[in-house]
Amino acid sequence: MELFELTLKEAAQKIKDREFSSLELTKAFLKRIDQIDEKISAFLDVEKETALKTAKEIDHKIQKGEYYSPLMGIPVAVKDNILTKGIKTTAGSKILKDYQASYDATVTKKLKKAGMVLLGKTNLDEFAMGASTENSAFQKTNNPWDLSRVPGGSSGGSAAAVAADECIFALGSDTGGSVRQPAAFCGVVGLKPTYGRVSRYGLIALASSFDQIGPITKTVEDAALVLNQIAGKDAFDSTSASEVVPDYTKELAKEIKGIKIGIPKEYFIKGIDKEVEKLVRAAIDKLKELGAQIQEVSLPYTNYALAAYYIILPAEASANLARYDGIRYGYSALGKEEAVKNLFSVYSRSRANGFGDEVKRRIMIGTYSLSSGYYDAYYLRAQKVKTLVAKDFKEVFQKVDLLATPTTPTVAFRLGEKLDNPLTMYLSDIYTVSANMGGIPAISIPCGMANQLPVGIQLIGKPFAESQILNVAYQYEQATDWHFTPSLSPPL
Ligand code: GLN
Repeated sequence: MELFELTLKEAAQKIKDREFSSLELTKAFLKRIDQIDEKISAFLDVEKETALKTAKEIDHKIQKGEYYSPLMGIPVAVKDNILTKGIKTTAGSKILKDYQASYDATVTKKLKKAGMVLLGKTNLDEFAMGASTENSAFQKTNNPWDLSRVPGGSSGGSAAAVAADECIFALGSDTGGSVRQPAAFCGVVGLKPTYGRVSRYGLIALASSFDQIGPITKTVEDAALVLNQIAGKDAFDSTSASEVVPDYTKELAKEIKGIKIGIPKEYFIKGIDKEVEKLVRAAIDKLKELGAQIQEVSLPYTNYALAAYYIILPAEASANLARYDGIRYGYSALGKEEAVKNLFSVYSRSRANGFGDEVKRRIMIGTYSLSSGYYDAYYLRAQKVKTLVAKDFKEVFQKVDLLATPTTPTVAFRLGEKLDNPLTMYLSDIYTVSANMGGIPAISIPCGMANQLPVGIQLIGKPFAESQILNVAYQYEQATDWHFTPSLSPPL
């Protein structure tokens, strides 16, 4: 077995036992990236020197007997909308092409403190708007299982990097599915925590009421290990939750006998790929075999969730993106002197040149739906739908403990396939946006292969019930062969 094939759990144990050093492990990953990232294009930036330097420092501590976290010496990739001090953070946008983060996001700080080795920053759809990573201003990322297909998005670089063994795990962000959908397309595990579970400080804002950072890993246990490190209250994010952070690995091994799993009928509708449906239903049968009680449930407002999401998200995004004005950060269309004389033209030209088409589309939709005369008809109505979607979940969770659904209606689609029609692209988020609207945790785990492409099943839990969805996910994973294994490793 190659070093880069190890899970976080395995690598951590071996580093702790000094079977190999962090430097050896880091070198193995840098070599892997060197050899294959040409084909995948998962990374926007690889920080070779810093990674080697950090690995040496961590090794030094371990040699002195200072071992304090399973993340010590572990090579990690971070989505490029999460700030990393002194390193470029572009959000996949031309407008931030040369922006160097002046501070670390809270998650970055926490992972550094836990001893991670930051390998580099991964590609994404510009400002995390998209479902294929094709909206990146810099490059397209290929799906490691089939290079002619998309890795999903917007955390496509992170998911592809994990699937292709270019890092041990990665961080993504999920506003409407951007951790779970690419995880499903790439055959890896993706967890979106409860809103507020993980600090958003230093995450470049898309829709602040939905955004959450989450781990993308090879196994469920690895996701639990990462969440242990990044969860918790943060004084710099007033929406972060003060709920106690449990040890998320504690309940993994618990039997799931008697646990009630609801299958929402609205998630098995026309348009879902037959193969995907078959595999997800087979996974549900497996959960039943493991002792879960399966029952059909209904979430009637699901049908309106996607439409409402695509009003609320652009509205919040249009406000969040107002700060990119050619003055304060990043790209400016004019030199300083001229800028002072003609402020309006700095704004408009910087934004016209700096933003890509999808970002502009959403700024326009958002500005429109927030404008007087249209606010009530669009934004306010969408907010009402959001409340109803959240209420649906609340009610259903009085009957069942968690929900199981497909993560996506199809397997990874071809590069370019949905670029001409944004609406078909938006439809890939149909099963994921509701959890963001409800602010509740959800995980995608591999549940089979359709025509040699991975399929994911999504487990959605009650607020702060990450331990429970991780438990069910883990039990399923242990009982099946679909999680990342060397025999299923991407045929590169
Ligand atoms: N694909 C969704 C969108 O385009 C989700 C984005 C996200 O979660 N960042 O909005």
